Amino acid sequence: MTEAVTAPKGGLNRLGIALSGAALALGVITLAHAALPRVEPEVAAPPVAPPAPEPVALVVFHSPLPGHAINSPFGLRQMPWEDAGRLHAGIDIAAPFGEPVLAAADGVITRAAFTPGYGRMVEITHAEGLVTRYAHLGAVTRGLRRGEVIKAGLPVGEVGSSGVSSGPHLHFEIRDRDDRPLNPLYFLGRRFAEAHDLPVHAAAKVSPRVRLAQVSNIPESKRSLMAAKGRIEAGD
Ligand SMILES: [Zn+2]
Repeated sequence: MTEAVTAPKGGLNRLGIALSGAALALGVITLAHAALPRVEPEVAAPPVAPPAPEPVALVVFHSPLPGHAINSPFGLRQMPWEDAGRLHAGIDIAAPFGEPVLAAADGVITRAAFTPGYGRMVEITHAEGLVTRYAHLGAVTRGLRRGEVIKAGLPVGEVGSSGVSSGPHLHFEIRDRDDRPLNPLYFLGRRFAEAHDLPVHAAAKVSPRVRLAQVSNIPESKRSLMAAKGRIEAGD
């Protein structure tokens, strides 16, 4: 009898062990589940955009003589040998003889010549018919030819004092397609994406103020003029 009574007990016990084992297993599973990283509901990840390419610029202007200061700006200027102010159609950048003069922007060489006023000069035509001129050069880069494509930053020549010049410097001009002189300060160090970004209108304005130029050396060609005006001694 006792066996008959105890047998089901043992069975119950075994069942109890089995159940608690199952509960333990469930607990372990729950713990294991809790330890798993939380899985967020699947959401379409935003596409990873490739880095935006640098926008293609129409034209970018750099200084033709980096690191050198402008010593005579664009605008009306009266030279000691002149009776009235006259447009200084560019900027003067003083630098020692021989300093490389660099193309300010990508373009095509349209002149490499000698003229009495500019002396040795190079002209480059850029996007939208903009033109840069580099004057009073001591030398033009060997082999530079009209019609040749040139990249910004490549040397077009070296600083000199050829033509009507009062000392070693670069006379640098920017002109529009109609040969109208523009103030280079509106362009240098700037990047223009489209033609309508070009500050042509603002850059063409000339202040009515006339600056009297301080000149340390009177160009040889102007000495007789100065002498005629009694401003310097003849033969000085
Ligand atoms: Zn000048």
